[in-house]
Amino acid sequence: MDRDATAVDVQRVVEAIERAGLKANPIPGSERTAIGITGNRGAVDPVAFENLPHVLEVIRVSHPYKLVSREFHPEDTVVSIGGVPIGGNAIVVIAGPCAVETLEQTLTIAHAVKERGARLLRGGAYKPRTSPYSFQGLGEEGLKILAEARAETGLPIVTEVLDTATVELVARWADCLQVGARNMQNFELLKAVGRSGKPVLLKRGMSATLEEFLLAAEYVLAEGNPNVVLCERGVRTFSDFTRNTLDLSIVPAVERLSHLPIVVDPSHGTGKRTKVLPMSLASVAVGADGLAIEVHHKPEEAWSDGPQALTPALFGDLMEKLRPVAEAVGRTL
Ligand code: PEP
Ligand code: MN
Repeated sequence: MDRDATAVDVQRVVEAIERAGLKANPIPGSERTAIGITGNRGAVDPVAFENLPHVLEVIRVSHPYKLVSREFHPEDTVVSIGGVPIGGNAIVVIAGPCAVETLEQTLTIAHAVKERGARLLRGGAYKPRTSPYSFQGLGEEGLKILAEARAETGLPIVTEVLDTATVELVARWADCLQVGARNMQNFELLKAVGRSGKPVLLKRGMSATLEEFLLAAEYVLAEGNPNVVLCERGVRTFSDFTRNTLDLSIVPAVERLSHLPIVVDPSHGTGKRTKVLPMSLASVAVGADGLAIEVHHKPEEAWSDGPQALTPALFGDLMEKLRPVAEAVGRTL
């Protein structure tokens, strides 16, 4: 729609799309509203819509993902997580423990990362563990601990939801629902978080192609939820010196194809404490909109992912070293 289009003009086009038996997906932008058309099996004749008042242009989206593509929505999307914008000029750092263990542990870490410049608190209450004998998370008790940490620090919460059965419960406590790498193609979960109304942090599956990653995000947008932040967290390769291979080249690739913000998780991406700082700097240098970093005040005692956790001191050092890199690429921290 052009920039003078009113809500009534948008509604008129939505109704015309629906009369043609198609689905209309309005996505408001800062300049203008775009209306994505989905549900078509073949090509749609643009003539039916292009002469309606305030329709600026009808664009054919050539990719299988429509709503996430830049063809459909050229301007960058800025996702607000509890009032913290991701995808604008400022780099946003999400930090916290791998898992919520105790109230004291979570509060200690939350205060430590807040003091050092983190804008969002992460921490898993539901943990997707490779072994059924590993700590599975505190569940609802963990969500309450996160909410207490939010109340004390003011940091909005990003936490993982593992299945459709707990989406409503997790959405009641969280500011952002994380869909983990192992669930990137859990299509029913993607639809459920799409209906939840909460922003979603979608992690790349460990063997997912760029197209599969963007189509997973498309599932969420197709449910009417435009607030998706993508997260590169490393993929499985033959490399034997890190836990995963952090594929930073996907950052500029995503930026070219999609309007959605993308953050990088160098903690799971490398699995090693010493590699988190250099890969964080590199992530910002290649254009990431933010970072997700695991921090623990006693990494050697962490119930999960201790080897990749930064201490608060190392996290502080990272934040200081990140600033000049952010500035060098025209961003703020
Ligand atoms: C996590 O962020 O704690 C996590 C389990 O990550 P991933 O899904 O990327 O393995
Ligand atoms: Mn972890």
